[in-house]
Amino acid sequence: MRQFLNFINGAFVATGKTFEKRAPVDNRVIGLVHEAGQAEVDAAVKAARAALHGDWGRMSVVKRVELLYAVADEINRRFDDFLQAELADTGKPRSLASHIDIPRGAANFKVFADIIKNVPTESFEMATPDGGRAVNYALRTPVGVVGVVCPWNLPLLLMTWKVGPALACGNTVVVKPSEETPGTATLLGEVMNKVGMPAGVYNVVHGFGPNSAGEFLTRHSGVNAITFTGETRTGEAIMAAAAQGVRPVSFELGGKNAGIVFADADFDKAVAGITRSAFENCGQVCLGTERVYVQRPIFERFVAALKDKAEALAIGPSEQAGVGMGPLISAEHRDKVLGYYAKAKAEGATIVTGGGVPGMEGALAEGHWVQPTIWTGLPESATVIREEIFGPCCHIAPFDTEAEAIALANATDYGLATTVWTENLGTAHRVAGAIEVGICWVNSWFLRDLRTAFGGAKASGIGREGGVHSLEFYTELRNVCIKL
Ligand code: NAD
Repeated sequence: MRQFLNFINGAFVATGKTFEKRAPVDNRVIGLVHEAGQAEVDAAVKAARAALHGDWGRMSVVKRVELLYAVADEINRRFDDFLQAELADTGKPRSLASHIDIPRGAANFKVFADIIKNVPTESFEMATPDGGRAVNYALRTPVGVVGVVCPWNLPLLLMTWKVGPALACGNTVVVKPSEETPGTATLLGEVMNKVGMPAGVYNVVHGFGPNSAGEFLTRHSGVNAITFTGETRTGEAIMAAAAQGVRPVSFELGGKNAGIVFADADFDKAVAGITRSAFENCGQVCLGTERVYVQRPIFERFVAALKDKAEALAIGPSEQAGVGMGPLISAEHRDKVLGYYAKAKAEGATIVTGGGVPGMEGALAEGHWVQPTIWTGLPESATVIREEIFGPCCHIAPFDTEAEAIALANATDYGLATTVWTENLGTAHRVAGAIEVGICWVNSWFLRDLRTAFGGAKASGIGREGGVHSLEFYTELRNVCIKL
């Protein structure tokens, strides 16, 4: 049985307390995760603090950048190990993890290494009251020990999205991966040792949220800043923890994202785009589209075309040729998604396709599968239109005017992402300007340039990461004023 150990001060650490990790594809136990208690979290934070004051803290930016490049290269060298770990933990299609999750895991180190090397800080010369001069310049200093709390949907990608910039800026980290996906975070510990990363720079503590490693870490007074990706409700709990000691937070939270399809859109591209944004990763993408608004002249045709696409998705395990959709992460999450499927039916939805569990053969019958599902006919007050489901499903409603589409898209507590499909540049600009979100894609989805700002408005987050914006969170700017 595989053992997922904590990684503290450069060493793999077992604990007396373990929990089972099950495979989403067949619910088989594939490993035992060693849960960190308060003592292990204390040890990880202490190691991270010591590294800040040790070799890591004294290292030049040039050397730090070299090490981060080496981390990226080693991830790429062990690409298949990372891929297998991610597939075992999530059950997602191999094509998805090999094109997105693992390459981005490596890229997150290189991109932020380049940014820290190339971004200047400001300098101002000033006149002094006595007729002399002074010069001001800013130093970028690390925030300190950063607590990194991660979700399970894109485990390596989303963890390194925070660890990459945190380390580039000279911080040390204690990572709490999701209890559902312990694999790649643990493996990254081996990479850190291989490339010669000083002990204590990267630490991993496994466990759950409340009364476990997540809470112990976020409440820890030795943690200087907390970066978190996950549910909005969890963000509220972490924000309360961070209030102790007035520690800064960066939050990437839930979404209830709209897709807006205008009648002038390139129809086939819009259908293909919404198919991806609704069903990719079995709908477990924060940026995914669960509310689709289609202009009335093409509404019926669009619903029929999306139905065809959903029904053509091959559902199966990671390595199955041509597979388009894997299982949900856990039995608990499947029950939650199926609860929403039942709710949609009870509230009077027209079920265009799906709504249940696909028939799977043999051992796979035990997996956490659900059908891709499309609804129409619900009022905007319906539960599945209001709440984030995080499953492969969407509701499609017609609209008539641009103003109506904008109002519908904005009528949510969330504000993460929107996709707009139109061939009219004016429409695209106007809608992008009026939508209350952090990210607006036009004629595309999940097209990411890592130098751009990423984050959510409203209940979808606090702050922005990406490019120089990450530096704003992971560094303290210190102004030095020298009277000449
Ligand atoms: P989650 O909030 O349940 O868990 C995320 C992490 O927080 C896990 O590691 C968990 O153990 C930990 N945690 C839970 N309670 C905690 C507590 N009280 N204190 C400290 N840590 C705690 O989220 P999830 O189910 O893993 O992920 C799905 C959610 O993440 C969705 O809402 C999705 O929209 C969101 N998400 C957002 C983004 C984004 O960039 N905005 C990206 C991916 C996922």
